[in-house]
Amino acid sequence: MTVARILAVKGTEVVTTQPHRTLKEVAELLATRDIGAIVVADIQGSVLGILSERDIVRAIGHRGAEALGDAVSTHMTSKVVTTTDDESIHATMEKMNLGRFRHLPVMRNGKLGGILSIGDVVKYRLAEMEHEHSAMREYIASA
Ligand code: AMP
Repeated sequence: MTVARILAVKGTEVVTTQPHRTLKEVAELLATRDIGAIVVADIQGSVLGILSERDIVRAIGHRGAEALGDAVSTHMTSKVVTTTDDESIHATMEKMNLGRFRHLPVMRNGKLGGILSIGDVVKYRLAEMEHEHSAMREYIASA
């Protein structure tokens, strides 16, 4: 199963922000959209970074509530690991596991084309395992 297959069901919308926005603005956006990370992009759609709820908690842990006024660019991760439509779900799980993060932007022709979260990946992996198990049960019953 590939990334494209998940996006075909999930959709390609990605919530983005700009580097000059504040952590407070992003925290509000994460809360209203019920998501855990936001991609930082320029107006052309090029990815500049990613900021997750963990970055916001870390900033507040270090600097207190004052950090909510800081610019996104101060706390985002600039070296973003991404995936593409043709990558396998297994490979995306490995990337998330190795990098210890739960979000993976999907790039299409150098531009943002979607995002996968650990929740999306686990959901499809469970469906795939259920499918494999029922195929195995049918095989055993008919053998
Ligand atoms: P998360 O587990 O996604 O909440 O992110 C944990 C940490 O990894 C945070 O510092 C994020 O900025 C960073 N991060 C999240 N996703 C990625 C990614 N795809 N590439 C690089 N860093 C990431």
